Amino acid sequence: MQPGSTERTRVRRLSDKAVTDGDALRRVLDAGLVAHVAVRDDEGQPFVVPVAYARRGDQVLFHGSTGSRLFRSLADGQPTCLTVTLLDGLVLARSAFESSMNYRCAMVLGVAQRLTGDDELDALRVITEHLLPGRWNEARQPTVKERAATLTLALDLSECSLKVSEGPPDDDPADLVDPVYSQIWAGTVPMRESFDEPVTDEHTPAGVPVPPYVRAWKRS
Ligand SMILES: Cc1cc2nc3c(=O)[nH]c(=O)nc-3n(C[C@H](O)[C@H](O)[C@H](O)COP(=O)(O)OP(=O)(O)OC[C@H]3O[C@@H](n4cnc5c(N)ncnc54)[C@H](O)[C@@H]3O)c2cc1C
Repeated sequence: MQPGSTERTRVRRLSDKAVTDGDALRRVLDAGLVAHVAVRDDEGQPFVVPVAYARRGDQVLFHGSTGSRLFRSLADGQPTCLTVTLLDGLVLARSAFESSMNYRCAMVLGVAQRLTGDDELDALRVITEHLLPGRWNEARQPTVKERAATLTLALDLSECSLKVSEGPPDDDPADLVDPVYSQIWAGTVPMRESFDEPVTDEHTPAGVPVPPYVRAWKRS
């Protein structure tokens, strides 16, 4: 798997932001929690559906309801495009035009496969452990009925791309010597996700602490 290795995944626009290292793409997928999946309905209307996901080897796993027409379309073999975007900061250039964002963005093209049996159960474990590390062994496992209501899909990372934007603003050289705009502040405002203090629900018996594995969660 090498990002950008096919004609349709080669980054053309601002191609210096293309990253072709497979491990870098895996790291982006491992850092994210939400993917956006493209799917068309029967009338051809495109939708971009946000989903929780996880990486397992060189696959992206995600799940939805068997009652969802959009998920059923994907399971039936409709080609899709999945993206994961990590927003790393806002970039304030001296002009509005050159102001932008710093990001890491993975894009995967392909046809998702429906998973079944033990393979699906393993995928549900991987998704749960990616989103909620430490939870799978403590939480109740999916019942037969819950499994029947769940459609689990895997998208191979065989055709993918990675685009990374980082660093300071890339100003128009004229703005750097302009008597007015060369004098204003410019730079980046880094951003990161973080967790707040866990909130215990009303059904948790008194004295049951927040699990240590939850206390250990960090975002970066
Ligand atoms: C947070 C964020 C904000 C952005 N804001 C803007 C904006 O406001 N305006 C704007 O024009 N662009 C923005 N971009 C960049 C945008 O995603 C596209 O890369 C850009 O518009 C060029 O698209 P294209 O299809 O013409 O690129 P092309 O280079 O022609 O696309 C060719 C191939 O490159 C790959 N590719 C393209 N874009 C990406 C990507 N973002 N991530 C991974 N692979 C990619 C795909 O495999 C695609 O098939 C933003 C990106 C991110 C992540």
